[in-house]
Amino acid sequence: MPELNAADIDEPDHAPAQMNGSGMRLVILGKQGAGKGTQAERLAQYVGVPRISTGDMFRTAVRSGSEWGMQAAAFMDGGELVPDDVVVGMVTERLAQDDVQKRGFVLDGFPRSVAQAEALDRIADPELVISLEVPTEMVLKRLAGRRTCEVCGTNYGPDNPPGDDSICDVCGGKVVQREDDTEAAISRRLQVYEERTAPLVAWYLASDRLAAVDGTGTPDLVTKRLLRAIENRLPR
Ligand code: AMP
Repeated sequence: MPELNAADIDEPDHAPAQMNGSGMRLVILGKQGAGKGTQAERLAQYVGVPRISTGDMFRTAVRSGSEWGMQAAAFMDGGELVPDDVVVGMVTERLAQDDVQKRGFVLDGFPRSVAQAEALDRIADPELVISLEVPTEMVLKRLAGRRTCEVCGTNYGPDNPPGDDSICDVCGGKVVQREDDTEAAISRRLQVYEERTAPLVAWYLASDRLAAVDGTGTPDLVTKRLLRAIENRLPR
């Protein structure tokens, strides 16, 4: 079997063969603004698994005016976590779908509490949990300048604005500031991260499923580090 080479990142059409179809079950943990969304999307392509973002699922539900959306919106706008039972119900349904059953997943934004991690272990025990590590001052700066496509969730910033002002390069959707990227909501979300989500790093370390990855530097560099962390976990 060919070795996975992290340099494959320079050839976007060439997904590492060794990973494809292996049904990998990955989780990315990290503060808001650590680059989870961008990196989870890249990993999904390289590893050949669906990316599952609970934040995107909630934003879609809010836009559609569904009951879940209405329940979630109030929590999201204030930077609070949506209650565990609502999130776990939503994720359980998603993980039961065919694509996940066949190919695995990369989870972005779930789990965010020990109760959610325990629920995930009961549904689909993840084999590798990556903690994307970025200092708080850096995420604050990134979040303040962040703009997001309201349709597909692609993120833009001062260093990578959309080509055409506020139109998404990927899907043509409108690029806006997220409702919860206000200063007050950001500081609350970071506080909630420290209280509820950060303990998961030690929790997964204890079961030898954690890889800490430096999330600073260019997105390409971070992707290479992530691929290397995954490669190190592949059976030899
Ligand atoms: P994100 O885009 O991942 O930052 O998520 C946006 C918001 O959706 C969060 O601030 C929460 O209000 C809600 N949310 C997303 N995922 C979860 C989760 N796993 N548990 C609770 N709330 C969540």
